[in-house]
This record gives sequence, structure tokens and C-alpha cells, in this order.
Amino acid sequence: MAGSLADPSIDLPAILIRDARLRASTAARLGVDPAIHVDLLIRDGRYASIVPAGAETVGAAVDRTVDAAGGLVTESFVNGHLHLCKVNTLDLVGDDALAAYHGAGMGGAMTAIERAAKVKRLYRTDRLLPGIRRALERGVEYGMTHVRAFADTDTTAKQEGVRAVVAARDEFLDRAAVQVVAFPQDGLIRDPGAAEEVRRALKDGADVVGGIPWIEFTEAAMREHIVQMIDLAVEFDRDVSMLVDDAGDATLRTLETLATETLARGWEGRVTAQHARAMALYPEPSFLRLAALLRQARIGVVSDPHTGPLHARVRELRDQGVPVALGQDDIADAYYPFGRNNMLEVGFLAAHLLWMTSASDLEAIYDMITVDAARVLGIADFDIAVGHRANCVVHRYPTVRETLAEHERPRLVVYRGAVVAENA
Ligand SMILES: [Zn+2]
Repeated sequence: MAGSLADPSIDLPAILIRDARLRASTAARLGVDPAIHVDLLIRDGRYASIVPAGAETVGAAVDRTVDAAGGLVTESFVNGHLHLCKVNTLDLVGDDALAAYHGAGMGGAMTAIERAAKVKRLYRTDRLLPGIRRALERGVEYGMTHVRAFADTDTTAKQEGVRAVVAARDEFLDRAAVQVVAFPQDGLIRDPGAAEEVRRALKDGADVVGGIPWIEFTEAAMREHIVQMIDLAVEFDRDVSMLVDDAGDATLRTLETLATETLARGWEGRVTAQHARAMALYPEPSFLRLAALLRQARIGVVSDPHTGPLHARVRELRDQGVPVALGQDDIADAYYPFGRNNMLEVGFLAAHLLWMTSASDLEAIYDMITVDAARVLGIADFDIAVGHRANCVVHRYPTVRETLAEHERPRLVVYRGAVVAENA
């Protein structure tokens, strides 16, 4: 998405990561004995060879050797959902919105969004950029190389938030892929003029079309919101990411409408749904019908169970064959007071909130912050394999369980074949 200029990965120093332990699922995919450590050679931004540790490495010239010392080497982290224009704004907005969002089983989520909107009157690109940079720097430090970043684009924020996020995307081009979503947080029908702001943002460099249909007041307006944004996506040939059914209200069905309209417009595989919390309250037959529709429309779901007391039915969606990613969602803003952009921490919290704690559950959690998240966001060539882009992390610990338990910074972070962070 970002960075489609001449490939900067050619002529990067060749890196050899020696004595690496792979996840069992990666080893199985590559046809390698999981008990055997491997050496990974990275050249011109891609994995050039993956061979048993100590074996003669093909084409030898190596500029740098990193000893993984038996530590786990995996794909880097993908953050499926982050409100990047809002990071580190909690002190500006105060915490009355936060109380409304989390209280009463999320019944007051709409009130929270209305209260939180007041911070946007203070939006100025130069005022937002330092906080955004801090969040991205920390993300990279913690091994996050890809993020779908939402920027409020409406009649209050105008272009200030999205401009800041686009500027940060361009600044970080060689450290991380930031996919910028032009996001009409306060609705389209409710906020006349917001659709024009989204269009303008797309013309000026935003990557993805956003949406938040459930915030509208009537079902007709919710559908209209979805139709308008998919039309825009088709016109600009862009992906779509919408926040759907993000409240404790079992009657909300905007994810179903999103899937229906995705199929109607032939936009299968180009749409993701964020939050989708209301499905937790659906009767079983409604949930199963929705899951079938999501499979048909090839819509993945991004969940962030740590930012609200309700969450999408992650385990059951996976069981139904719907890909799921996890997201940081918020960092010190009106909706959540913490967040380090550390996807291992997000996975650690999700393991508790979803009660996914067995060995196979932890592998699933790890997939949802790496390979499955890449699938949901449409990031190609992401899995560790010869010829694929080298986006990987070198951990201190040999297992996924220990890595999640400690949720420390990886020793080394590689993005498109270049070392972008090293942590002693
Ligand atoms: Zn969100």
C-alpha cells in the first residue's frame, strides 16, 4: 500500500540469522523438523534461504550475522486496528467519555463517542504528530511492522487528523507499513459533509475507506452509510475497514449489512470489520448465519477485547473459518487509558479475556497478531518462506508461551529485510 516507489530493499546488507527456533506451525509448513534449529538468510529484502543450522548457506556473502541462540524467530507483528490520530490525547479530553464507553455493558458507547469528539476541536496536524510518532516508535521497538491506522475524517477533525497520520506514515516508510484509514467517526448521515471530507482525504493520500455505520440513528441510514463508503472504495479502488456494532445492543446488525453490500458490489476480500462487539449478544442461529455470510464475503474481523467489556466471538469465528486479527485499538485516549503498541501485550491480555490459555490457544493468539492478521489486512508474502518479504522478529525465549508470558521487546526487528530495532 504505502511505499510503492522503486523497491528500496535491493542492495540492503545481507543478514544471516543463525540458530533460530521456528514455531512448530512454521516448521511444518516449510517441511522442516521442528526440533531442528535453522539459519535464515535475508537478502534484497527477502528470505533467500532457510536451512538447518550450521549447514552451508547458499551464496555465502553475508554482511551481518545475528546469533538467535535458539530463540524463537517468527513473523513480525501486525496491528489490525489502531486509532492513531487519537493516541496520547487522554489528558486533553478528560475521562468522562471513558466511563461512558465502558459502563453499563457498553450501552452508553454512543454517548462516549459524542463526548470524546470534543477533543477534535483542538486537532491540529502539528499538535498531533509528536504523540503519533511516539506511538509508532514504540510499536516498531516492540516488533510491530504493519498497522491499520484510523484517522478521524469528519466535519470537526476535518483533514487535521488524517494529514498527521499520512505524514507519520511517510516518515516511517522504511520502518513500518502504516495503512491510513479515512474514518468518519461521527457518522455520515448524522454529520453532513463528512463524506466529502473522506473523499478529500483519499485524494490527498489516505489508503483505506473507513466507516462506522452503527452510529447512525436509523437502519436506513446505517445501510446508506455502508453503501456510500463502498461506492467510494470502488471508485478509488481501495480496501474498506469499518467499525461495526460497537455497543452492548443485541439489535445492531451492521456487520450483516456490510457483508451483504460487499457481496452486492463484488468487493469480496477487500473489507475488514473492526470491533463487532454486539455479536456477543446474538442468539446462536443469528451468529452462525452471520459467520456464513462473512465467509462468503471474505470479511475478516479485528477484535480488541481489552478495550471494552464486550467483544467479538473470536474463538467461534475462528471455528467457523472466519479469519480474526487482534488490534491495539487505543493508546491513552478517551476510550482506553493504557497501551504501548506492544502486540505481545495485546495477545497476553486477549488470552485472559478470551480464556484462550491452552498451548494450541496460545498458538492461535500468536497467529492473530502475526500471520492471521496479515491475512485479514491483505498483506501478501508475509509468512516466513523463501522468496517472501523478510518481516520478522528474534525473541529471547524459545516458545510462544514464554514469549507471550514475558511480552518483552524482541531482540531484533526486521522490516522488509532491514533491521529497524534492536533491544539489548
Ligand atoms: Zn476502535
